[in-house]
Amino acid sequence: MNKVLVLGAGQLARMMKLAGAPLNLDIKAFDVRTNKVVHPIANEYTFGDLASGIAQADVITAEFEHVKHDVLAQCEASGKLLPSSQAIKIGGDRRLEKALLESCQVANAKHRVVDTYSDFSNAVSDLELPIIFKSALEGYDGKGQWRLKDMSQAEAIWADMEAFVKGANTSVPQGIIAEQMVPFDREVSIVGARNKNGEIAVYPITENHHTNGVLSVSLALPVAEKLQQQAFEVFSKITNKLDYVGVLAIEFFQLGDTLLVNEIAPRVHNSGHWTQQGTDTCQFENHLRAICNMPLGNTELIRPTAMINILGEDNVPEDVLAISGVAIHWYNKGKRVGRKMGHINVCANSEQQLADKLTKLASILDPKAFEDLQQFADMLQSRVNQ
Ligand code: ATP
Ligand code: MG
Repeated sequence: MNKVLVLGAGQLARMMKLAGAPLNLDIKAFDVRTNKVVHPIANEYTFGDLASGIAQADVITAEFEHVKHDVLAQCEASGKLLPSSQAIKIGGDRRLEKALLESCQVANAKHRVVDTYSDFSNAVSDLELPIIFKSALEGYDGKGQWRLKDMSQAEAIWADMEAFVKGANTSVPQGIIAEQMVPFDREVSIVGARNKNGEIAVYPITENHHTNGVLSVSLALPVAEKLQQQAFEVFSKITNKLDYVGVLAIEFFQLGDTLLVNEIAPRVHNSGHWTQQGTDTCQFENHLRAICNMPLGNTELIRPTAMINILGEDNVPEDVLAISGVAIHWYNKGKRVGRKMGHINVCANSEQQLADKLTKLASILDPKAFEDLQQFADMLQSRVNQ
């Protein structure tokens, strides 16, 4: 079990390659845009087509959930795909995802499936304003979403969504989910791994902050046991139901002491990147261990850690590296506005020290590129001082 093929050739496949090298794992990636198997770090090195990639692999996995269904079927037919195509498809279709949450009886936001205008009217009367409408397929980074705050917007939003669904070029029909907006106190996620024997190892829940709909900062601190237990139970229910193998992430809205599931991601996740420096075994290694049938590694938090996404920038001042406990992870991608280009992990020995390091970081980084970082550092400072 040492040859892995990853569906998708982005930063997640790249970081799997980096984490798998010490274990002598031979990891290749299938670039869905060029239909070629490539080296996950040096993408210019190619190895052939999907069929030969499948034939040469011991195990096949995915770095994203929007993989074409015929590709998934071809991989699954080899008997090597982990997690299953069912789990990957559920992560890529909010209709299937909501049905899974209901069947696992885990708390989630009140919602309705909207296919017709009459479904739309019913959803608007069954749910309370504000309502968020989300495309069933291909949603990511807050794309394909409409927010209905006032009934005067209803007809325009419906017209826009109807045109969007009609214009969709998806292999499965596009659709809409209407969801009650949740007045959450904060957003958190749990990332964890489950192996073939059904053993589960989860990381401590992470607090997530978004800027313009995109994850900007994740914060890993010691967690209240009850909250962690609640997240662990949801993780167990979902992964056991799917007989899931690999790393999976669950995003939650926290209201008081209650967690409502927002969505699941059947893969390693941006909110788990802090594990590269904040734990003994990062999420990329644990994903590989799970799918290659090795024992799972320790997931405990060893020190308070924050992850800051680098969005739309291909350079940060090198002074950042002079702060102890700072690591930069670049993805070697072309610069584009808002694109995830890399991330910075910041580790500290205490929450106070982490707040101080973030304050220092905010003073070095360009505030135009790291819009909310100063505000985030101030927020952490005031929390520590409470
Ligand atoms: P990503 O890929 O970044 O996770 P996404 O496109 O899959 O995003 P969601 O996670 O469903 O979309 O929504 C993006 C953000 O919008 C959430 O993190 C949250 O801040 C907000 N949001 C989504 N649904 C709700 C809701 N029901 N109530 C309140 N806020 C919501
Ligand atoms: Mg999300």
